Order: sequence, then C-alpha cells, then structure tokens
Amino acid sequence: MFWTLTILGGLLVFLGLWQRAIHRRLTEQTIADIRDSRTRGTNKGLTQHPHIDPLQCIGCGSCIAACPESGVIGLVDGIAHVIHASRCVGHSHCEIACPVGALKVGLGDLSTRTDIPVLSDDLETSVPGLFIAGELSGIALIRNAVEDGVKAVEAIARRVSGLSNRFDGMVDVLIVGAGPAGIAASLKAIECNLTYATISQDDAGGSVRKYPRRKLAMTQPMQLPLHGYLKKTQYVKEELVAIWDEVIETHGVKIQTGVGLTTVEHRGHYFVSQTTAGPVESRFVLLALGRRGTPRKLNVPGEESEKVLYQLVDAATYMGQRILVVGGGDSAVETAMALAEQSGNEVVLSYRKSGFFRLKPRNEERIGRYLADGRIKAYFSSGVGRIEADQVNLVIDADSEPQEINLPNDYVFVLAGGEPPYPLLRSCGIRFHGETPHENSASELLKAV
Ligand SMILES: Cc1cc2nc3c(=O)[nH]c(=O)nc-3n(C[C@H](O)[C@H](O)[C@H](O)COP(=O)(O)OP(=O)(O)OC[C@H]3O[C@@H](n4cnc5c(N)ncnc54)[C@H](O)[C@@H]3O)c2cc1C
Repeated sequence: MFWTLTILGGLLVFLGLWQRAIHRRLTEQTIADIRDSRTRGTNKGLTQHPHIDPLQCIGCGSCIAACPESGVIGLVDGIAHVIHASRCVGHSHCEIACPVGALKVGLGDLSTRTDIPVLSDDLETSVPGLFIAGELSGIALIRNAVEDGVKAVEAIARRVSGLSNRFDGMVDVLIVGAGPAGIAASLKAIECNLTYATISQDDAGGSVRKYPRRKLAMTQPMQLPLHGYLKKTQYVKEELVAIWDEVIETHGVKIQTGVGLTTVEHRGHYFVSQTTAGPVESRFVLLALGRRGTPRKLNVPGEESEKVLYQLVDAATYMGQRILVVGGGDSAVETAMALAEQSGNEVVLSYRKSGFFRLKPRNEERIGRYLADGRIKAYFSSGVGRIEADQVNLVIDADSEPQEINLPNDYVFVLAGGEPPYPLLRSCGIRFHGETPHENSASELLKAV
C-alpha cells in the first residue's frame, strides 16, 4: 500500500511538472511571437479579429485548434492571447469553438480607429441619408457584405415609404460599388420597388472577381434577395462570379460599370453625386466601395504602359516571359510564386524594404524556398526607376549608395497595396471613430453640447 501510494504520488508530481514544462514552453513561444508581431506590425487587425476576456478564458486551446490560419492566437500562462491579429480572416471559428464564451470576433475598441466610419445600427453614417455597407464598414467577408447591403436598403426603403413625394429625375438611392454588398443592395432595391442607380468603377463582382483563378472562397450560407439561399460554405471563385453574373442577368440589375464616384454633396433632402459619367441626383446614397481602394501606383516614367498590371488573375496565361513583381506583401509573393511556376518565366521581385515583414507563415516559408533554389530572384531595398518597352530600371539600396541595374522585361506586376477611399469619405463629411467631431459637423457639435 505504501509503495503504491508513493508511486502514484510520484507519478502525479511527474505529470504536474511535465504539464508545467509544456505550459512554460508554450508561454515562452507565444511571448516571442507577440514580440515578433509587434515588430512586424501584424499585432493589429484592420478588420474583425478575436478579442479575449482573460477572466473567462480557461486556457483549453479550442480557439487555437479551430483557427484555419496560423499564429493568430497563442497561450500565455494558460490564457489565450492574440498574436498576429491581422492574419485573422474573420470566419469566427474560434468564437464558436470557445466553450465558455470568452472570445468574441469583432473590431474591438474603436476609440482610436480613424479608419472605421461611425455608423448607426441601420448603417447610416454621420451624414443623414448617406449609408455604408460591406467591407468599407471595417467588417470583411462575403456574407457580411451581402447582409449589410440588404440591411441598408431595408432602412432606406422604410424612409422612402414615409416620403410624401418622390421627385422626377431623381432616383431613390444611388448604390456605389458592385461587389457582394452592392449587388445584394441592388437586388433588395428591386425587391422593395425602389428606383436606383448602381455604379462601379470595375466590373460587377467586386473583390471576388479579382481573386486568383480557382481560388477557394470559404463562406457561410446566405440569403440573396430575389435569388434565394446560397447554402454552400465553399465556392471556387469562378462559381461565385457565375452566381453574380446570373443574378444580375436574371433580375435585370442595372449596373453602370467603369463609372467612378468622385464626390457626394448633401443638399438638404437629397444628394448630388459627381461621377466620371456625370452627376447623379438621389434621395439616398449607399457606399459599398470595399476597402481595397485604388491600386497604389509607382509614379515612375513608363508606368502608363500596357505591360504594367496591378493584379494577376490567371498565372497560366504568362509563359516564357521576363517578369518583375513589385511589392513584398502576401499578394506580391503569391503572384511571384504563381508566375514562377509557369514554364519559361523568369521572375524578379523588387521590394523597398530590407526583408519580408508581414507575410503569412506559409508564404514566408514557400518564398524562402523559391529564393533559395533560384526560381525567383529578389532585390530588397530597391525601387523601380523607370519602365521601358523591353527593360526596367531598378535602383538598389536607394537609401545608402544607389546602384542602378537594367533588367530585360516583358511585364511588370505592381502589388504595392491600395489607396483606401477614406479621403473620399471625409470629403463627403463622414465622421470616423477616433476623431473628434468636425468643425463643419454642426449636428455633432450640438449633440456634444
Ligand atoms: C484575395 C482575397 C481573398 C478573400 N477570400 C475570402 C473568402 O474566402 N471568404 C470571404 O468571405 N471573404 C473573402 N475575402 C473578402 C471578401 O472578398 C470581401 O470582404 C468582400 O468582397 C467585400 O465586399 P464589398 O462589396 O464590401 O466590397 P468589394 O467586393 O471590394 O467591392 C467594392 C466595389 O466598389 C467599387 N468601387 C470602389 N471604389 C469606387 C468608386 N470610387 N466609384 C465606384 N465604384 C467603386 C469596386 O469597383 C467594387 O465593385 C477575400 C478578399 C480578398 C482580397
């Protein structure tokens, strides 16, 4: 009996020490990862990401196991902590997996966010009658965009039904953008018998149409007005684009593509919006512009050439080409690797920083292999000097001792991020979280008194 108890006691002590050692190792690893995320700037999420209540967390790790990405959450002393918030894609599997409700996926504290517009529950901005739907609100994902588009138009339809007169030559609502939010909003406008105009600077489909060929989109079931339920949770990009095209055709959704919005002026009970195709008068405006904005340009001589592109849709259409990819984020390295896979391509990557900082782990690991085996050649701390018909001029070590080289070249892919549409929103008078009320926003000042 004595020996049995002694052995059992020893075993328990050993198990306890073993578990403590594992906790310690996980904690040290997570702390190192948190430091790394702060250096890279990936500790802050731009769209929705997990927020953990440490008092409720029981440290079971279900959230970590449920996350489809890597490095978003880790454990410190048996409590979950967010590491690389910007790697979260917002699917909320962690929130569902948490057995004690200690984790919520959302935007968190908005008081310092100068990139998130202030919205009412109906998605109305600080400018009465001007609404926002989709990723522009800060919340990503296709289903959220669809739901937002529907919700905003429902609110607009309620207001329109309360109007005593509807003016000739003026639509009830101008919908700007034809991604998932704008398409769903347009369908809802038809369903609600509203008069509407939908414009989009690109082809209908928004970001989805620009996904790489055969990209698998993970989503959740959603209700599309007039069309019905989309119940699958995974779609290949081409399937989703086919659905958008089909609903637009079947329900006669009128979308003016190639038309950009430049300003929105609030004139009391209506709006005058300036677009690249002329002014549009409407009772309400719904902005469904997404957050990608206009691709950032290099502003170098020769950039206007047709060989300069700002996205790669189908890598297989480039073979036997000499290609320069500019940028160092996930889109740039994914583009460079996809092009390097095609036969006969010579791919060079130019990045202005001295190394990669914000890559997803699997991209970091893969690009390392491409560089090591010479499938891609990279010039860090470099920038494009000028683009010519059959070569590009690169300036290397632009900060210290600049050195110029000319590379034979057929195509240049610029993947240097986008200019978000915040200046446009501010010019409309829309207020953002993290900003004090504008001097020109009299109603806000009155509210603050
Ligand atoms: C590579 C990638 C992969 C993704 N994968 C997934 C996924 O697997 N699952 C998922 O749910 N989500 C995914 N997303 C996110 C999802 O695509 C977006 O959250 C969603 O498309 C947002 O819809 P939206 O309608 O708000 O904006 P967008 O789809 O971005 O559409 C914006 C529209 O506004 C137009 N526009 C912009 N500015 C102007 C202007 N000034 N004038 C006129 N028109 C303008 C654009 O042309 C476009 O039509 C992914 C995004 C990317 C980039």
